[in-house]
Amino acid sequence: MTDCIFCKIINSELPASLIYEDDHVIAFMDIQPVNPGHILVVPKIHKELIAELDEDLTSRLFNVGAKINLAIRKSNIKSEGINYFLADGEAAGQEVFHTHLHIIPRFQNDGFGLKFHKTYYELPKREELDEICGNIKQLME
Ligand code: 5GP
Ligand code: ZN
Repeated sequence: MTDCIFCKIINSELPASLIYEDDHVIAFMDIQPVNPGHILVVPKIHKELIAELDEDLTSRLFNVGAKINLAIRKSNIKSEGINYFLADGEAAGQEVFHTHLHIIPRFQNDGFGLKFHKTYYELPKREELDEICGNIKQLME
């Protein structure tokens, strides 16, 4: 896509610190890291959402993420844990509409985290969980 930042990085029209590349997947340093070592794993094909990728490409994305995870753990980058984060859609926090997997090194009190609404702490009834479960389950292919 012509005005996609990640497509431009893939086509070498914009600079990036590349950490991995094969025929299907590329990975580079996030320009505005949550913590040092924050990396984005990106399919080379322009697709907005993760569900638009086929199974093989989805696997490839997560396999590259796993390799990066291991490398971070072996490195001297401050990392007590690692988040895999994927914002799938604007309401989920997606800002670049070319799907990508964030690999984010984490450590205690690093200031990053998820916010929860007040009712989060009131657990739903089992019936409610089962109803939602049924709805989604019957639509799985
Ligand atoms: P999203 O919110 O869509 O999940 O994340 C987009 C990510 O892309 C952000 O973490 C942001 O810092 C990163 N980003 C935006 N523009 C660029 C860029 O030009 N180069 C690189 N390397 N990362 C970018
Ligand atoms: Zn793109």
